[in-house]
Amino acid sequence: MIRIARGAEPRGLKTAARRRLEAAVRVFNAHGGPSEALTAMLDGYNARATKLALYKAQHEKCAWCERETDFSSSPVEHYRPKDGAWRHLPGEKGRVDAGHYWWLTWTWSNLLFSCARCNDAGHKANYFPLRAGTGPAAVPAAPVPLPPPEPLAGVSAEHPLLIDPAGGEDPLDHITWVPTSKSFDRRDWIWTPLGLTDEGDATIAVLKLGELADRAQGHVRTKLLPSVEEMEEHLSAGRVQSAHRRWTRLLEDNLAPAAPLSAFTWHALHYLVPAAYRRQHGLADPTRPGAPRGAGR
Ligand SMILES: [Zn+2]
Repeated sequence: MIRIARGAEPRGLKTAARRRLEAAVRVFNAHGGPSEALTAMLDGYNARATKLALYKAQHEKCAWCERETDFSSSPVEHYRPKDGAWRHLPGEKGRVDAGHYWWLTWTWSNLLFSCARCNDAGHKANYFPLRAGTGPAAVPAAPVPLPPPEPLAGVSAEHPLLIDPAGGEDPLDHITWVPTSKSFDRRDWIWTPLGLTDEGDATIAVLKLGELADRAQGHVRTKLLPSVEEMEEHLSAGRVQSAHRRWTRLLEDNLAPAAPLSAFTWHALHYLVPAAYRRQHGLADPTRPGAPRGAGR
């Protein structure tokens, strides 16, 4: 997972958001709170232009697992779930806030493009755990005035455990990948995601990122190691310039915004080409993939 910059809100979404939120508020007010009728109205956030804007901003990759993802079969995902928030983690006793966060269904800063795996019921689903000892944002109380105030209910004081790839923080600081089984041959190392923070742990658990271990190993075998070995051959033959060129191209190709699994690559390269080896041969440090700091929102 890398930092994402969504860019400007599509104009069509802005218009639809106002219209649909107002209609939802009328139903909310009529029922005096959330209802099945309200739930039935929580759609229309995934117009083609909205999805395409997210798809392009995310360089055609899933916001969560960073795999290249097919446009047509993949969903628009809500960072804060639109129809009830699960505060527990997978395997824990269920704690659900049923009234959260219907009013963010059409909010640009709450939308992401995701692969079907990461979005499905066994992964992100409606999980939205908060840091222990902190509470959720207050839900809107009926009757909500019309036109609805913006924002209808603020969420900025919440302390989510799920990392927001477009929230400004760098996911690289929360989740790393380590080789947990280091056989002699680097091709056979088994890679595991590891939380560096509570947020990292929770995000790995919710998205079951450990399931991507085979994918990570395949990436090392087919994308990274062939280039690393070529570079090493140049170095051992004394072709320093060729080695440096190979290394530079490896970094450019695999840490570019559109490169699949670039967060994994960044972490993996620290084991495949360790800092001491890089220093010894004057090889540049890998630069962090993802949108620049401050470009998250
Ligand atoms: Zn995914």
